[in-house]
Amino acid sequence: MKYNALKGMQDIFSPDIYIWQKVEEVAKDVFSAYGFQELRAPIIESTDIFVRSIGETTDIVEKEMYTFSDKAGRHITLRPEGTAPVVRCYVENHLYNLPSPQKFFYSGPMFRYERPQAGRFRQFFQIGAEAFGVGEPKIDAEILSMLRLFFERLGLKGLNFEVNSIGCEKCRPDYRNALLDFFSVRIDGLCPDCKRRFDYNPLRILDCKVDACIKLREGSPRVTDFLCGECKEHFNTLLSLLKLLNVPYVVNPDMVRGLDYYTRTTFEVTSKDLGAQNAVAAGGRYDRLVEDFGGPPTPAIGFAIGMERITTLLKSSSNHKIPVPKVFIATIGTPAEEEGLVIADRLRDKGIWVEVGYAGNSLKSQLRRADRLSSAYVLIIGDDEINSEKLKWKKLSDGSQGEIAFTEVYDFFK
Ligand code: ATP
Ligand code: MG
Repeated sequence: MKYNALKGMQDIFSPDIYIWQKVEEVAKDVFSAYGFQELRAPIIESTDIFVRSIGETTDIVEKEMYTFSDKAGRHITLRPEGTAPVVRCYVENHLYNLPSPQKFFYSGPMFRYERPQAGRFRQFFQIGAEAFGVGEPKIDAEILSMLRLFFERLGLKGLNFEVNSIGCEKCRPDYRNALLDFFSVRIDGLCPDCKRRFDYNPLRILDCKVDACIKLREGSPRVTDFLCGECKEHFNTLLSLLKLLNVPYVVNPDMVRGLDYYTRTTFEVTSKDLGAQNAVAAGGRYDRLVEDFGGPPTPAIGFAIGMERITTLLKSSSNHKIPVPKVFIATIGTPAEEEGLVIADRLRDKGIWVEVGYAGNSLKSQLRRADRLSSAYVLIIGDDEINSEKLKWKKLSDGSQGEIAFTEVYDFFK
């Protein structure tokens, strides 16, 4: 019997895993400096949570969710994104009673039943962050600047920060009407999904990936022309703060994000080096979602970074240090093997990566393994070394070697 991972799912292991760990480490460091604390929410939630927040006419809810019934017949869904679970947690645990803003980050797998292709998987990982309780654009700017710093720390250059504002519940009706006017004469050419979206949420037509719909929406009304006074001011303040913080943004008035809960600020970070799936991070404000989930009115903003796309960029852009053992202990004979094992353990106790040879391996094959592992040092212990209580060391990079007493080994590798 031969088993394969499910379609669209991948295993991650060495050497790639070191890039993943690096990204996670940088995210944790940078986000912590901005006061974001880690939050771990479950991977499955009630289906409702996603349908209500992401929106019934979105690609995710219409086509992509891993939804099934559990043994008690409950409708549950493997999370397709991280914001809705964090909002559910925030409201359920009354975190709005704590001083504002409350800031969280998360990382972990998301699941969407998409057609697997470059940059698109059925299980993919996101690192995301959410900030609750501040409506002013200052925090939007901080979040974008935090993302800039994150990418900078990773050494990723040439990314575009695309920003937009899609207004609030005050400006949305006018824009909706303008879209209805625009598409009412084009409705016959729209795909079946967009025909439904026309009735439920015409904004979604702007996010459709079907070629015919992309063509038909050329020249459609732009959301930025419909912003109310407050939204316009909010957006303009954000742009001036982005300038102040040196975030290299461009305004993209055509960007409506793929989820319904956004209000006002939306943004995507894109890369020219990724082809069609070019967004490495995306997010925006969702000022109504906490209330929709039964909490008090609470403005909020967040984003998610697509890990696979980041690691793809990193793999092609820089050379990565893969950790190697510091010490390989090669031994000949049982007493030496036992002494070697004791020394190995004591070095490991100091946090040093030590490998040992195993039974039946000749010295030659042990040294070959040390070489293949690119161990920094090899220690050799045989009967002579046991008698003299000294061992031979060799540095593989330059061939230098010497002898030290067993008792001095620990200081030698400090
Ligand atoms: P896209 O337009 O690429 O489908 P989206 O709007 O569906 O993106 P979001 O829900 O905003 O994506 O997710 C944020 C980020 O997560 C994306 O920018 C991308 O980097 C990553 N992402 C989303 N879906 C996938 C997927 N199926 N496989 C890998 N990464 C993904
Ligand atoms: Mg998508």
